Amino acid sequence: MIDLSVGQQFNAGAFVLYNHIVNENGDPITFDRHKFLLDFYMDESPEIVAVKCSQVGFSTAAIIKSAHLCHYKQANVIYLLPSKSIVKDFVIPKVDPLISSNPALKNMMGSTDNLGLKSFGIGALQRFLYFRSSWDEDSGISLSAHVVISDEYDRSNKKAVDTYQTRLDASRLTRPDLGFDWRFSNPTFDGAGVDELYQGSDQKRWMIKCSRCNHHQQLTWPESINMQTEEYICKRCYRPLSDLDRINGEWVPTYLGRRRSGYQISQLMATWIPASEIIKDSKGDQSIFYNFTLGLPFTSKDIQVSREAIIKCIYPTANPMTDVAIGVDNGKTMNYVIGNKYGVFAMGETDDWLEIENLRNQYDAYMVIDSNPYPTPPLKLANKYPGKVFVHWYSDDTKLAEVIVWGEDEKRTSVFSDRTKIIDAVVADINAQDILFNMTLDELENHEYLKHWARLYRIVVESDKGIRKGVWRTIGQETGTKKPDHKAHATILWKVAMQQTLSRGQIIKTPMNKPKNQIPKALYVNPDETIVNGSFNPQQMVQQMFRPKSKPWYKR
Ligand SMILES: [Zn+2]
Repeated sequence: MIDLSVGQQFNAGAFVLYNHIVNENGDPITFDRHKFLLDFYMDESPEIVAVKCSQVGFSTAAIIKSAHLCHYKQANVIYLLPSKSIVKDFVIPKVDPLISSNPALKNMMGSTDNLGLKSFGIGALQRFLYFRSSWDEDSGISLSAHVVISDEYDRSNKKAVDTYQTRLDASRLTRPDLGFDWRFSNPTFDGAGVDELYQGSDQKRWMIKCSRCNHHQQLTWPESINMQTEEYICKRCYRPLSDLDRINGEWVPTYLGRRRSGYQISQLMATWIPASEIIKDSKGDQSIFYNFTLGLPFTSKDIQVSREAIIKCIYPTANPMTDVAIGVDNGKTMNYVIGNKYGVFAMGETDDWLEIENLRNQYDAYMVIDSNPYPTPPLKLANKYPGKVFVHWYSDDTKLAEVIVWGEDEKRTSVFSDRTKIIDAVVADINAQDILFNMTLDELENHEYLKHWARLYRIVVESDKGIRKGVWRTIGQETGTKKPDHKAHATILWKVAMQQTLSRGQIIKTPMNKPKNQIPKALYVNPDETIVNGSFNPQQMVQQMFRPKSKPWYKR
């Protein structure tokens, strides 16, 4: 048995036990329920990554480890969080009560104790714990430290985090025993942020043993839960797992000898979270359930538009070019997408607003143009072609009654759309082959169409008020090196304009209520441009395209 009074100096786990440390809510941290956190408390690997769910006490552990490193290892520690308000929302409700309710921590404190900076120890041995925002440009990027911890890494400014980490090299020269680079986060999407780092780690998995059949297993969704009885069950014998079964697991590395120590923590490991709560969470937004309950990146074909997804929508055939809608992405160079209910048949880019106007006249098209960054030219066109040309505004709030809202009266030249929902809808349409391209793969590639789409991805962000919401971002946006995605936005604006060619007020389809049997039988084009005919019927297609025009198609 280790002597805790001695052990506490060397190890944060022993420190917690010896000093009967309580968490920020005053509950003792005893490891009888949090056994899965003990290894992390004891882990002093130079590189640690944790892909974590919410509400399991992980950040509390990270704060205690930081204070322990300052005091017992004479380390300066930088604790990075995504935003300035999160620093405030983190230090005041979490760090300060943790220190004030634990005499052992309080006694270690030095003379400095403010929001962004705490000191530990006295005199020459005084060391500092900085809380900083990775998004705040001037918040001390020049600070150097022995340990840099990035919490909520996936929502942080990764360029800033990297800059802080590069300063560790200098500190390793004077303190080769330190220079720690630790990053933790709720994950976002596959192969990015902490998930990417975890893939390069030893990939520790929490293995438990069924006390009835002795089968070693990792708790996974949905296999480890019986939906009817709302119990955790063994994946082999299907009998209920006891709380003790789930507590008495151990971390087993998948890869031995890797430098980076990696944990993946889910709420399935937490014995105080009943299976019924997991089932309840599973019925909400799937990316929130995966990221925050299961601690897993969320993968769905609906949250990204892959090259393959677009290729499956290629249907290179003549388009009658009637009832045309055009979407225009505003900018120094305008990007446009032209199509109708049969499909997208042209796209391009121009620096000349006259060309945009000529395109509108050529097809007598409905046209939707983004308002930013140059609102004047679209407004001029909207006034010149009332009821035909509209200026588009993305709405980031959820106040819109529908996904697309057309302005009335003095706002009749405007159209508003819920940014997340309209992009969700168009992405779902492409993935379900509900949007077709009457163009060849070569033509699409010439306009970098597939590349522009591949740069959009969906993540979940949390507001200051703790409300989680899906948002679409573009690769590079976080580091100020946003890559072009204009053709994707032009397609979204085209989809908005398409509503004018349909009956007014028709709600745009969402993936949730889309009947599966409406997926069109598209002509498949392989990446090598060979064509798979499959169930393609040319006669049927021609008939469909040249129906008599006496009635609008949507009334048939
Ligand atoms: Zn079993």
